Amino acid sequence: MSNHYDAVVLGAGLTGLTTSFYLNKAGKRILVIDTNSRAGGVIETQEKNGYLYEKGPNTGILGSIEIANLIDDLQPDCEIELGNNNVSKRFILHKAKWQPLPSGLKKGVTTPLFTLMDKFRILGEPFRKKGTNENETLAELVRRRMGQSFLDYAIDPFILGVYAGDPSYLVPKYALPKLYTLEQEYGSFIGGAIKKKFKPKPEADKKATRKIFTIKGGLSKLTQAIYNSIGSDKFILGASQISINKNENGYSIILTNEDGEKVEFNSDKVITTIPAFELENILPFIEKDLLNDTQNVFYAPVVEVAIGFNKWKGVSLDGFGGLIPHKEKRDILGVMYMSSLFEDRAPKGGALISVFIGGARRPELTKLTDEEIKDLVEREFKELMGLEDFNPDLFELSRHTKAIPQYGKESKERFASVKVIQNKYAGLYIGGNLLDGIGMADRVKQGKQIADSIINI
Ligand SMILES: Cc1cc2nc3c(=O)[nH]c(=O)nc-3n(C[C@H](O)[C@H](O)[C@H](O)COP(=O)(O)OP(=O)(O)OC[C@H]3O[C@@H](n4cnc5c(N)ncnc54)[C@H](O)[C@@H]3O)c2cc1C
Repeated sequence: MSNHYDAVVLGAGLTGLTTSFYLNKAGKRILVIDTNSRAGGVIETQEKNGYLYEKGPNTGILGSIEIANLIDDLQPDCEIELGNNNVSKRFILHKAKWQPLPSGLKKGVTTPLFTLMDKFRILGEPFRKKGTNENETLAELVRRRMGQSFLDYAIDPFILGVYAGDPSYLVPKYALPKLYTLEQEYGSFIGGAIKKKFKPKPEADKKATRKIFTIKGGLSKLTQAIYNSIGSDKFILGASQISINKNENGYSIILTNEDGEKVEFNSDKVITTIPAFELENILPFIEKDLLNDTQNVFYAPVVEVAIGFNKWKGVSLDGFGGLIPHKEKRDILGVMYMSSLFEDRAPKGGALISVFIGGARRPELTKLTDEEIKDLVEREFKELMGLEDFNPDLFELSRHTKAIPQYGKESKERFASVKVIQNKYAGLYIGGNLLDGIGMADRVKQGKQIADSIINI
């Protein structure tokens, strides 16, 4: 029985690691398989020349109880670090100048980001009829309730920051379900937000503070702590030619390990947490039309650059960073001032900035060569970040050709086909970022839910 498992988890990113952590904790015999030779998925922290930088996600939000609980469950092996006071100072580029994103009513009235007409229009938001089209795009929804300038200078940059996405593609029902529900339940964003604020929260929910966080030493310390807790003997990393088949007792898994040996395992349950486009390679027994719907999701490409300056001579980096609305027609999506948010990110007196390029609307930029990207960043930094010379002491580029799944109207069929597959093939669980949200908090929530549904059978 040594090659028989209670559960085999495909993918050792944050989702797969979370599921594995809780299954392992509950005493299940598990095996975690990943094609990559390290655990962590897109989460990857690196150190160089005195800089501590991220190649994937930069920050998390304590947006679900599950992520707060996971960090607690990993104590004392990973230490949370909340973003400092700078997290609330965010900037939006408007007519080539950085403007603070208004936080209160007074600043909202005086900001140049929104037109006078839309500022008046917003007063009528609570009285506008709620939408009836479940496939309405985010752009349509915001235009209808708040006006074009709110779409251009509040929602568009927000969506760039979260999805690297396009509001005229994303459908709130799937991409921003909380926002969609706010309108559907309360008839208004403003009215709903106020009512929710005064609604008593269950004690457990209070842990989901929505605060910005990282882990001391970088986000890889989180995934590493999970990996260490599970134990390296339960992982097969660097696997290739993975194929799963249904048999009378459950599933058989065949793969080639890092040493080039073909190995076979059996398992009662199989959990996939890999990206949608990988599913057809490993699940040959599933009908093509079902898989087509499940895989129907566009992953926006992103290039991320970590830039360090031992001595910063540009604009003040006192804040979270800045986002650049599509309307501004620039070649970068935004900048995050990592060394202003968190400790020990740059040598003393230096600055570490993360820059994002590409996304759903400018995918062509992610195909530029490293040299061309460096030129582009130099041009933008000289024009927007107040630098006369561009001689960074760190310039590390990370390419994510299929980075962030975009939840458009096709999501309805995708979510439905996952249910059909799971009902048809008992013991097969399809997770990962093709459903249930894209952020780290969503990933941990889904990973925990999958583990619970297996533990509680
Ligand atoms: C550039 C970038 C920036 C981001 N920034 C943020 C952020 O700031 N905040 C935030 O909350 N979220 C951010 N996200 C989203 C974040 O990626 C997710 O929240 C989370 O880390 C994804 O975890 P996952 O396990 O679902 O997927 P992944 O991390 O993609 O893990 C999937 C794993 O599956 C493996 N795999 C692939 N194919 C196979 C196969 N055939 N067999 C076995 N294994 C396979 C991969 O090697 C990988 O390890 C960002 C994402 C990207 C790409």
